[in-house]
Amino acid sequence: MKCVICKSSDIEKRQVEEEIRSGQDIVIVPVEVLVCLNCGERYYDRRTMRFLEETKTRIANRQVKLSPVGKVLRATA
Ligand SMILES: [Zn+2]
Repeated sequence: MKCVICKSSDIEKRQVEEEIRSGQDIVIVPVEVLVCLNCGERYYDRRTMRFLEETKTRIANRQVKLSPVGKVLRATA
């Protein structure tokens, strides 16, 4: 497999953190995806896409156990 962005074949499975927005909140979801080590492009397979979709729904329905990891802050100009 070659990266469609930079044509590198340096692609490995890595654990990354996806951010799912839920209202005003951001939920960090760890997933394993293929990552181009050259440019950082992430490649999601069908299973991962479905998992993220399902997780988003489960978060909306409050079916996921969540723990706080920090604050989301907004800067005022
Ligand atoms: Zn790349």
